[in-house]
Amino acid sequence: MALHDPAVSAADQPSTVAWHSLAAEQAAQQLNVDCSTGLSDGEVAERLARHGPNLMTETPGKPAWRRLLEQLLQPLVLVLIAAGAITAGLGEWTDASVILSVVLVNAGIGYWQEAKAEGALAALARSVATPVTVRRGGHRQQLDASRLVPGDVVILAAGDRIPADLRLFQQRELHTDDSMLTGESLPVGKHTDPLADDTLLAERANMAYAGTTVVAGQGAGLVIATGDATETGRIAGLIANAPEITTPLTRKMATFSNWLLWAIGGLALLTFGVGLARGEAAFDMFMAAVALAVGAIPEGLPAAVTVTLAIGVARMAKRRAIIRRLAAVETLGSTTVICSDKTGTLTENAMTVRMLWTAGLGYAVSGHGYTPDGAITHDGLPARIDGALRECLVAGALCNEASLRRDGPHWQITGDPTEAALLVAARKGGLDEHTLRALFPRRDELPFDACRQYMATAHQGDGQPLLYVKGALERLLPLCRDQLDARGQPVALDAAAVEAIAEAYAGQGMRVLLLARRIFAENSALTAGMVDGLTLLGLVGMIDPPRKAAIGAIRNCHSAGIRVKMITGDHAVTALAIARQIGLPAERALTGRELAGLDEAQLAEVAQHTDVFARVEPEQKLRLVRALQSRGEVVAMTGDGVNDAPALKQADIGIAMGLSGTEVAKEAAAMVLTDDNFASIEAAAEEGRGVWDNLVKFITWTLPTNFGEGLVIVAAILFGATLPITPLQILWINMTTAVLLGLTLAFEPIERGIMHRPPRRQATPVLDGALIRRIVLVSLLLLGGAFGLFLRELAQGHTLAEARTVAVNVFVMVEMLYLFNCRSLSRGFWQLGLFSNRWFWAGLAAMLVLQLLLTYWPPLNAAFQTAPIGRQEWLEIGAFALLSSLIVGLEKRWSNRRRST
Ligand code: ATP
Repeated sequence: MALHDPAVSAADQPSTVAWHSLAAEQAAQQLNVDCSTGLSDGEVAERLARHGPNLMTETPGKPAWRRLLEQLLQPLVLVLIAAGAITAGLGEWTDASVILSVVLVNAGIGYWQEAKAEGALAALARSVATPVTVRRGGHRQQLDASRLVPGDVVILAAGDRIPADLRLFQQRELHTDDSMLTGESLPVGKHTDPLADDTLLAERANMAYAGTTVVAGQGAGLVIATGDATETGRIAGLIANAPEITTPLTRKMATFSNWLLWAIGGLALLTFGVGLARGEAAFDMFMAAVALAVGAIPEGLPAAVTVTLAIGVARMAKRRAIIRRLAAVETLGSTTVICSDKTGTLTENAMTVRMLWTAGLGYAVSGHGYTPDGAITHDGLPARIDGALRECLVAGALCNEASLRRDGPHWQITGDPTEAALLVAARKGGLDEHTLRALFPRRDELPFDACRQYMATAHQGDGQPLLYVKGALERLLPLCRDQLDARGQPVALDAAAVEAIAEAYAGQGMRVLLLARRIFAENSALTAGMVDGLTLLGLVGMIDPPRKAAIGAIRNCHSAGIRVKMITGDHAVTALAIARQIGLPAERALTGRELAGLDEAQLAEVAQHTDVFARVEPEQKLRLVRALQSRGEVVAMTGDGVNDAPALKQADIGIAMGLSGTEVAKEAAAMVLTDDNFASIEAAAEEGRGVWDNLVKFITWTLPTNFGEGLVIVAAILFGATLPITPLQILWINMTTAVLLGLTLAFEPIERGIMHRPPRRQATPVLDGALIRRIVLVSLLLLGGAFGLFLRELAQGHTLAEARTVAVNVFVMVEMLYLFNCRSLSRGFWQLGLFSNRWFWAGLAAMLVLQLLLTYWPPLNAAFQTAPIGRQEWLEIGAFALLSSLIVGLEKRWSNRRRST
């Protein structure tokens, strides 16, 4: 009989085991894992094959039929449906079927576009990997959450998203936000003790469930369920969070459409009434009213807005900015202030220790990057690594979470670069962290956190418990009681000298850390209160070079009227030195402490004129955002930690760091940078402006068609003339030109000089006076051309079908040439590069073919009541289209000149 393997059965049916009722050791036993080393590679491979990747099957959102129905239930579409139905009632079957098929095609396109935009946004959101820290094969390592298997040991820190269901076996002040699972919005404190079998899910404080987040503290847990087997995975629909695809602009458009609908409806009724009063046949007047409604409604507008935004999203993704909320695409174009972190965003976050100061002596450290080749020298001579200097290096290496690894010729780091730099410095002094860690085993730790600004670890020293601390000078110097001398003996603290050295290092743009220790008489659990009465060991100064790309990007932002503000946790002097290196015109820095002393009104005043904020606590970022917003600024704010989340949510555009950011920050943000680089924000702002431009181009191009068509119908009724275009022909024009011509504008590349103009004011309407004038002009030209040539045809004895075919072709041809004009709002199309938008030419060619088919292909002639026309007609149409394009061109020049004077 085969032996029963508890690990297999437990992991295969995770739901049958009440993990919370087991002691942590029992849970580890059941999962066949040693918590101190984790699983081996072989075990991982075997479990991965058995359980599959840690991915949840996404539950589909709304069913397709409902989404399609929603497309049909829009007011504009309902009008078309009603028109189609009544037309059918009147026995006009061809018209009715064409109107209804247009409705269906339109709904189909809308549905498809929306689904595509949603899909693309969701895919982009997924493309931002979720890294987790695990212990495997005795080592800490980072991997993507999808690779977790039951039995894995997961290390948790503040800001992490819990990647799978965990049985906690270790924790320090661990608090999670379980609201997405339990609805409880307050952070839940965790422990590791076993609980009663029947404890409710929401009260299982020794468990952490997938999808919830760590808001404070740290911990470690064993994976007991992955993917669909997790509690979250089992609650269908919970993760089907379809991204929001409406934006302020689409909502504005919806309001505009509704408003238009009423106006058009009123006008149609009026037309109908006027016609009847003039003694026209009710049927003809009804068809005229339908034509008016169909013509004046910009059917293509909603789809075009969504498509243009979606193209913007794709372009931004190529430039390393992942959009999580579509509204950000628009807002980016009107951003006036970018508040950016320093470390890693404006700088490379590649730390190298350059200077050391201990026992009154300064040391230089040579070498590059994380390669531990280099020397520690004093006055050009190799330094003796003993006494205070040795202790300083030891503190740096032990009070440390990072690790160094050789990867071929390169050295890779895991963890915080600031800490990795200390490991490298220690190795340059001949001290290896592995040996040190074995000699002085760690008993406890207070991890670094941006509010505390230091990190402390407790070790078992030579018989005596030891505490090592490293962190910001302002925080730790007041806690120091004495300092070590060159021989390693405690002497009186010379705080003024320490401050002067720190100031000198910071003045060169270096990050300064203070290292200290404390020796205890006996062991006890580490608390923040014990970080006091310290012995100062020394200072380290490390460089973090500015990102070259950031320097150019800041210059571009300035010329685009976007202010850049550096908000950092670092020292004011360091921050100012870096600010100057990257081209921020900062005279002085405002510190977090000064900021705390200001009331809201004062802060609003000061914040606007300050470019560097130093020693800022994450919570203060929220106040800053609000202060700037109160001054009418449109604020983009970067962040990475869990405490940054409120500011990221409050900002007009919250930007999270894709590489170093916590999951909580990413979730709060509207945009995630995949390379953490400031230059990508500037690129996204540029794209945002481009998207807005293209939207305006589309609207400027499309509205004249609708207005022109409306005018033609109204004029026909007022003058008692036959309709120059039928409702069906109007639908043909609207649908074909919107897709084949108008949408190509969404692909227009960004225009030169787009970053040389000020940000768009959010309150300004989409169309300004000049554009409205242009739209009216083109509408009138369409009216004149279509009506004029239509009447001329009739007067020359051509049939009604021929005359209408001419009118339809006037509309399309004028629009084709007007499209050239709309490729840029200010420049001539020849200045843009003839082939910079290939879609443009493809659209024009396709449109031409369709028009020829409409004019000459019998089936289309029959369906749309058109008829072949002669060369003379084409010449007249062409001449008129050219003439109108010339007139529009002149108007554009004139209005540009007026704008620039
Ligand atoms: P930002 O990314 O916002 O520009 P920052 O990364 O420069 O900020 P923080 O990480 O908040 O700033 O660090 C603030 C201060 O805390 C630093 O100036 C340094 O003195 C100290 N510090 C930074 N990292 C560590 C660490 N790993 N251990 C101990 N102290 C640290």
